Amino acid sequence: MKVLVINCGSSSLKYQLIDMEGEKVLCKGLCERIGIEGSNITQKVGEKKYERTLPLPDHAAAFEAVVAALTDAENGVIADMSSIGAVGHRVLHGGEKLYDPILIDDEVLKAIEDCIPLGPLHNPANLMGIRGCMAVMPGVPMVAVFDTGWGMAMEKSHYMYALPYEAYENYKVRRYGFHGTSHRYVTGRALELLGNPNAKVITCHLGNGSSVSCSKAGKCVDTSMGLTPLEGLPMGTRCGSIDPAIMPFLMDKTGMTAKEMDTYMNKKSGMLGISGISSDFRDLGAAAEKGDERAKLALDMFVYAVKKYIGAYAAALNGADAIVFTAGVGENDREVRADILKDMEYMGIVADFDYNMTCPRGEEVCISKPESKVKIFVIPTDEEMTIARDTARLVTK
Ligand code: AMP
Repeated sequence: MKVLVINCGSSSLKYQLIDMEGEKVLCKGLCERIGIEGSNITQKVGEKKYERTLPLPDHAAAFEAVVAALTDAENGVIADMSSIGAVGHRVLHGGEKLYDPILIDDEVLKAIEDCIPLGPLHNPANLMGIRGCMAVMPGVPMVAVFDTGWGMAMEKSHYMYALPYEAYENYKVRRYGFHGTSHRYVTGRALELLGNPNAKVITCHLGNGSSVSCSKAGKCVDTSMGLTPLEGLPMGTRCGSIDPAIMPFLMDKTGMTAKEMDTYMNKKSGMLGISGISSDFRDLGAAAEKGDERAKLALDMFVYAVKKYIGAYAAALNGADAIVFTAGVGENDREVRADILKDMEYMGIVADFDYNMTCPRGEEVCISKPESKVKIFVIPTDEEMTIARDTARLVTK
């Protein structure tokens, strides 16, 4: 069966077509700047590239562009859409009601809609993607896979905030966590590599958005993102955890509205805000090497925050069997990994710093020494394949 995986962001639509026989990725594509001037679609099928600049006013229009790209006579990959057996949709927020991957019907659509207040940018885009897809592919089974699903295994004492209880009862204010499909995938791989389905694993998804999570026997114990993806580590443009009193303090000083404050913390802070240069770790590494103090400060703050989470989660788990690095920075930035792993002997970590600098990229590798009590893995994440597997499993059930 061929499964189409759709991942709608607020102004983007990423997709992959995967043949589940042999789990082969047939093509990857991306619609950018949806609803913004200069929108475009690019698709890669092996060496073949399909590119168009065209108006994409919304996600429904973007999906029509995807159909045209997939079935393009010259650079497409399928003759018509009927060869696609099912579609898997990444959905940001499932609230407390939706957590396991689920076949989409009217009730599920309504439940995703009910979660819009919790995911105001992404859930409407996810819904538009699903509806656009349903319009073009009536009768084709569709599955929703929730980014918040992983965090639903947390105990109540781990997911509650110490606000008046009514904030939870009335508005569902609690920790949900994000990057769930990625944490689930790399945790599953780590358990297989360890040969121990009950192991305790700390997963560091370090990219433009970053989160650390910890689990026991494949069930999430804690995760650093919260009600929204803003909590936890400092990220590309997000501040991560700060003293909450800073918000009213700065709003009072500057006259920022709540919405402006939200943008300030989500888009102007983090690595970009501290360095004043860029949110991209490659730019920061290059600037720090040339002696830029603020780029170095941003990187040092990031490394320190990851270290603190690893320490906290080792305490929460009563020791870890493995630590996993994944996503853009975790998979590629050897210096950041080395800095995180320095001075961690107290935990029984013996990193192989030489191999960390020379190990191949894009492969699963172990960068701890054989005597290390805690195994350190670098595992390329694969959210799309996870969604495709979930989809195929539910559809063929
Ligand atoms: P992601 O959000 O997972 O796509 O990760 C994006 C981040 O990964 C950006 O900050 C990139 O700078 C970083 N990244 C990607 N490749 C490399 C690399 N080779 N070295 C350092 N950072 C990288």
